[in-house]
Amino acid sequence: MVNRAARNIGPVVLLGPPGAGKGTQAKQIVDRYGVPQISTGDLLRDHVSRGTEIGLAAKAIMARGELVTDELIYGIVAERLRQADCKRGFVLDGFPRTAAQAGWLDALLEKTFFENLPTPENAATLEKCAPVVIQLLVDYTQLLPRLTGRRSCPTCGRLYNLHFQPPLVNELCDVDGSKLVVRSDDREEVIAERLAAYEAQTKPVADYYRVRRRLVPVNADRPVEEVTAQVFDAIDSHYPAGC
Ligand code: ADP
Ligand code: AMP
Repeated sequence: MVNRAARNIGPVVLLGPPGAGKGTQAKQIVDRYGVPQISTGDLLRDHVSRGTEIGLAAKAIMARGELVTDELIYGIVAERLRQADCKRGFVLDGFPRTAAQAGWLDALLEKTFFENLPTPENAATLEKCAPVVIQLLVDYTQLLPRLTGRRSCPTCGRLYNLHFQPPLVNELCDVDGSKLVVRSDDREEVIAERLAAYEAQTKPVADYYRVRRRLVPVNADRPVEEVTAQVFDAIDSHYPAGC
């Protein structure tokens, strides 16, 4: 049997509205392929909780459910992608969220990973290892219960849902018993803003990748494990022999 974790899968982008299941599927990809999850939302929340300059700039914008500026995000992503654990590939969850961010990511990948290799062979490698973009398609009526029911473990990060994946014991993590937490932006009035931001600013990201033939739509209305099977298929077809 092929050891999937032993090969480089290249970049994977998970695209979809808040509540589509990006974080849930990213964790499955981490477990199977051994590549890191890079969630810009998690990175920003960490900055907010540490009270850094970035956190102070982002806090009020996030609380309103709007997108932070592209410039703020670029610094965070560039720094994270420089870390050694990204060499074999990585899964981006929550980034890119504007067409400008998608263009910036392509330029960064080209520069970082292929800078010193301007040969035709490397142009082919670049094409082969351009991110596979998995678009999680969910009926909008599913998003509200997914978001209002979302709970996470502050210790291990495991995700739950009070309606769809409840913990065994009410509000406690199955793995370590920690009290589960609710995200402060998972309230109906903020959710409405986040969905509006998705419609206005993030939908064009799908078009950006569609015209470049990198978009793989997946039916994310199905139970988690069925969505995961489609996600793994998309990755294995895009990177059949690593990259
Ligand atoms: P996103 O990262 O896209 O905002 P999450 O992965 O955090 O979404 O999922 C949002 C909520 O929906 C979580 O509570 C999660 O447990 C739940 N969820 C994720 N995928 C599914 C699914 N396929 N069916 C039902 N609930 C799901
Ligand atoms: P998420 O955890 O992905 O739902 O993101 C939470 C919040 O972080 C969003 O509502 C935005 O305010 C901010 N955010 C996360 N990623 C980005 C991004 N790529 N661009 C702009 N804002 C972002």
